[in-house]
Amino acid sequence: MAIASSSRWLVGVSALLALPAAMANDRVQVVTSFSILADMVENVGGDHVDVTSLVAADGDAHVFSPSPGDARSLANADLVVFNGLRFEGWMERLISASDYNGSMVTATDGIEPLSFAAHDEQEHAAHDHAEHGHEEHDHDDHGHDDHADEHAGHDHGNQDPHAWQDMHQAEVYIANIRDGLMAADADNADAYRANAEQYLQEMAEVDAEIRSLIDEIPASTSVITGHDSFGYFSSAYGVNFLSPVGLSTEADPSGASMAALVDVIEKENVKALFHENMTNQSIITQLAEETGLPIAGTLYADALAAEGEASTYLGMMRHNAQVLHDALAEPGHKEPSHEEHDDGHGHDH
Ligand SMILES: [Zn+2]
Repeated sequence: MAIASSSRWLVGVSALLALPAAMANDRVQVVTSFSILADMVENVGGDHVDVTSLVAADGDAHVFSPSPGDARSLANADLVVFNGLRFEGWMERLISASDYNGSMVTATDGIEPLSFAAHDEQEHAAHDHAEHGHEEHDHDDHGHDDHADEHAGHDHGNQDPHAWQDMHQAEVYIANIRDGLMAADADNADAYRANAEQYLQEMAEVDAEIRSLIDEIPASTSVITGHDSFGYFSSAYGVNFLSPVGLSTEADPSGASMAALVDVIEKENVKALFHENMTNQSIITQLAEETGLPIAGTLYADALAAEGEASTYLGMMRHNAQVLHDALAEPGHKEPSHEEHDDGHGHDH
């Protein structure tokens, strides 16, 4: 009995060992944590990769619960790519549950992360609202208290993980993905290098398009989104983003912070509200009802769209800039005040 069972066990093992070779598919099996990274890997990997995203399009990677099937995907992977900066808190648990021992790429490796406080300061500096110092200070205090509470409660770092929202930072993602693929599949290193080069050029073109669209929005314009996912976008391109919750979608806004936000809306130059594709829309809908502000569209924050223009990273970045531009741009926004000033001069003479 013991012998029979142990030989059966041996047969089982050799069959298992034979599987990877028998099923081998020359393509590198890549698992990414969320859809934006999957699209980047597909662009750099081209025909040499099969990519699986654990969190699907329109999914929320902050609050994902991996399934046993996700652990199996990881166990079969050659390369795992994730964002880092504590964006996917569940990823480490999943890695250890799946016994995955292969290569990992942390896409944000080498970027200079915005801390929440720093991006708040930068936004305020960009606004240059020296004359509203007292109001800004009040708002600042509220914001920091709220975020400190969330971070204490949910063990989030105070570094903003949403670095893909700045295409310049996303160049680092592409370099890390390229290097990971080259290490995992040296035979196709030239292809990965060429694909990355091509994609970086396309990114530079989209970056320029975004800049020209956002440049037509007055610098003091504020908007509200579901959570603080646009700090890097704001820092790179402009527009001040406020939100009812903090950096993570895990926190629910309390009645008190909603009341504070309504207060902030009255003090800041808030022009519009935007839904996010992957967060609960009821908070923004509620704010629109309370404030009478318009909901001016949907921005793609932490996930691609399942289909359409925003189903690629470049498309979603272009879409967000276009939606913001269509709602907020005032191409001649400086002219009226100049004309008034000139008119005044004219009358004086
Ligand atoms: Zn987020």
